[in-house]
Amino acid sequence: MTSPRDAGLKLIREHALIAGDVVTASKTIAVDDPATGETIGHVPDLGTLETERAIQAAHDAFGDWSTSDPHQRAAILRDWARLIDDNTEGLAALMSLENGKPFAEAKGEVTYANSFIKWFAGEAERLIGQTQDSPLGHVIVTFREAVGPCALITPWNFPAAMLTRKLGPAFAAGCTAVVKPASQTPFTAIALVELAYQAGVPTGALSVVTGDAATIGGVLTASPMIRKLSFTGSTPVGRKLAEQCAPTLKRLSMELGGAAPLIVFADADLDLAVAETIKGKFRNSGQTCVCPNRVYVEASVAEAYAEKLAAKVAELKVGNAFDDDVKVGPLIEDKAVDKVEAHLKALKGDGAKVLTGGDRHERGGRFFQPTVTLGGDDALLRREETFGPLVPVFAFDSEAEVLEKANDSDFGLASFVFTRDLDRAMRVARALENGIVGVNAGMVSTAVAPFGGVKQSGYGREGSTLGIDEYVDVKAVTLNLS
Ligand code: NAP
Repeated sequence: MTSPRDAGLKLIREHALIAGDVVTASKTIAVDDPATGETIGHVPDLGTLETERAIQAAHDAFGDWSTSDPHQRAAILRDWARLIDDNTEGLAALMSLENGKPFAEAKGEVTYANSFIKWFAGEAERLIGQTQDSPLGHVIVTFREAVGPCALITPWNFPAAMLTRKLGPAFAAGCTAVVKPASQTPFTAIALVELAYQAGVPTGALSVVTGDAATIGGVLTASPMIRKLSFTGSTPVGRKLAEQCAPTLKRLSMELGGAAPLIVFADADLDLAVAETIKGKFRNSGQTCVCPNRVYVEASVAEAYAEKLAAKVAELKVGNAFDDDVKVGPLIEDKAVDKVEAHLKALKGDGAKVLTGGDRHERGGRFFQPTVTLGGDDALLRREETFGPLVPVFAFDSEAEVLEKANDSDFGLASFVFTRDLDRAMRVARALENGIVGVNAGMVSTAVAPFGGVKQSGYGREGSTLGIDEYVDVKAVTLNLS
């Protein structure tokens, strides 16, 4: 019987796909398994010419695809979803290999990623316009039309879901796309694109280009043929890409970084708060944009919460993605481990106590011990996302104080509140400067919920009934009927 790891290795394709053509290059980029540092394969290091070719193909394919029957596009999306379901184990293993996330969690990501394709297949069938009487005596009819060829740039932390959350609505609306996946996790994207072709997505409508990010990003953003950029990644890169898109005034969606506060009031169910904190924080080993970066607990229960949390966190098994019962994998790169260490050092320097963990993991490499601290200064955590398995807990005295701390951040993606008081839950949820709030819930991402941030966490919403709006322009036709 094939092991999951071997099933993942079998799906590795060491080439880009431009308008359906296999594209290789003599210069390549190595992709490694973060658990071992071993190279699992290479992708071509492509540049200007290949990116221009992909853009031209997306431009040429746009006319037919954007005017195709949306029900037919929905059927193709559903076929793609079926193929993804059939390949869940292999795709999950591939993600575990290139990203390091535990295999069980990777299977969950495939399901989550596929939920966007299924959801947006339905949205393709609901591209509904409006009719309205005009005060000028006319009738106004609106059409929701595809924006145009899109550039989609995705990060390494959710190699499948960040792609389908863009491609689902793009295809539903009738847009074509050029995808640039993260260089650390390109194989999942290539495998998904191959399945999309098998499902009937026209080859010109979809290309995946691997290579130097600045070069490919420069060509995509400069091209007048690309009408929209959807980017998920860090705030500095998002800002730069927005600047590069200004001369051609592209439509933009920016899903950027976060520094999520999680607030626990004294009346909360502490066991629930602990369980949900762990669910939210340790997914992808703490490398998610919505995971709690700083936990504020009302002073009277701060120690009790922190001790309960530390006891549960100490039980989390750290290891290779394919080991049994692993809950926390390696971090994506050495620099990520350095960052967790630096944040921990700063907290300790400010007087924080380490309740569990507190060091690199004995497995070495990119593994870090799941860590809980109590006390110290939260200032650094308001400004920077740790992106690792560290939960810093701070005590607070009043609702006003904690709201000020929670909102004192340039970021505004996600936040979490734990309380049994419904009035307070709603008051705090409304006062938090974030795009997403979980009340007594640590997991907030689903295809049906609007996902996106405010402030330096970006703009635009993915998923939900709003997600398709990012890929449509509204045309108003005025009819002077006699
Ligand atoms: P990143 O460095 O910004 O990279 C993201 C993507 O942008 C990668 O494909 C990368 O390619 C590409 N890129 C980098 N520099 C570029 C440039 N100059 N021009 C064009 N493309 C460029 O971010 P990351 O470290 O991979 O991802 C983690 C970040 O993503 C975190 O800040 C996290 O909070 C955020 N994130 C946000 C969301 C959300 O929905 N809000 C979701 C997930 C993650 P290379 O890999 O080739 O460098």
